[in-house]
Amino acid sequence: MLKTALFQHPDFVHHETGADHPERLERTRAIIDDLENSPLQAKLQWHLAEPADIAWVEANHDVDYIRRIEEACLSGADQLDRGETRVSHESYHVALLAAGAAIGAVDAVMTGECDNAFCALRPPGHHAERAKAMGFCLFNNVAIAARYALAKHGLERVFILDWDVHHGNGTQHSFYDNERVFFCSMHQYPFYPGTGEADERGIGAGRGTTLNFPLPPGTKGMACRNLLSGPIADAVADFRPDMILVSAGFDAHHLDPMAHLELTEEDFGEMTRTACALAAEHCSGRLVSVLEGGYHLQALAASVREHLKAMVGDA
Ligand SMILES: [Zn+2]
Repeated sequence: MLKTALFQHPDFVHHETGADHPERLERTRAIIDDLENSPLQAKLQWHLAEPADIAWVEANHDVDYIRRIEEACLSGADQLDRGETRVSHESYHVALLAAGAAIGAVDAVMTGECDNAFCALRPPGHHAERAKAMGFCLFNNVAIAARYALAKHGLERVFILDWDVHHGNGTQHSFYDNERVFFCSMHQYPFYPGTGEADERGIGAGRGTTLNFPLPPGTKGMACRNLLSGPIADAVADFRPDMILVSAGFDAHHLDPMAHLELTEEDFGEMTRTACALAAEHCSGRLVSVLEGGYHLQALAASVREHLKAMVGDA
C-alpha cells in the first residue's frame, strides 16, 4: 500500500486573485507540475478533492458569513472584508473544494486508506476567523478538518501544528477555549497578523492547549527544528493526540518574498520527519497536512517535495 495520499484538484486555479497578488493561481500548479516530474509521483495516492458538505463549514464559521462570501463571489466582487482577500466568481466554490480536500484527507487517514496525507489546496485558511476573511483566507481548512475529525470520526483530541511564517490567528481563536484541540504555532513576530505572543495560552477549559513560539526575523531552520524536537514534542507527548494536523505554510523559506525567516527546503523535510515520528509514536502515524502560505514558486515546489518525501518515508 502507498502510505501517503495527495489531495488536489485542477479547479484550485479558478480562485483568481490577479497577477500582482502573492496568493496566485500558479502556486498549486507549480506544486503539481513539480510532483508530476518527480519520482515521487508514483509513490503517492493521487486523490481528487470533493467539495465540503456545507454543514462542516458551518461547524467553524457563521452561517451569515458563509452566505456573504457566496453572494460576494457570485455578484462579481473582487475583494472581501479587507482588501487583502481577493476573490473571483468561482472563489466560493473553490473554497468549498479546499475545505473538502482537508475533510477527504481526514477520511482517507481514518479509514486506513493511507497513513498520512497532504492537501495541495488554495485558498489557504489559517487566518480566516469565524465571521471574517483575512490574509488571503476564506474558510479555515485546518480548523474545519479538526472539527470534522472530532465530530465525524469520534476522536478525542487533535493537535494542530502551524509552521506557516504568519501566526494562525483564525485557528487559534477557533479553539482558544477548547481542550480537545491543541494549537501550536511557530511564526515570525512581531509581524502580520499581530497575534501569537508567547503568553497567549488559551482560556477556560482550553487554558494550556495553545502554545506560541514567536521568532525574530532572521531565525534559521535549526532553531525551528530544535523547537519541534524539544518543547513541541513534549507538548504532543503530554496531550496524547489521536491525530496531528499540520498547517503547512512554506513562507518561512529564505527565498520567500513575504517574510524574513531563513529556512531551507531541507529544514521543512526534517521538520516533517519529526512530525511524522511524533504521529507514529502517539497516534498510529495519523497526520494530515494542509497547504497554507508559500509565495516563491520554486521554493514552494521544492519545499513541498521535501515535505512529501519525508511523509512517504524516503531518506
Ligand atoms: Zn503565511
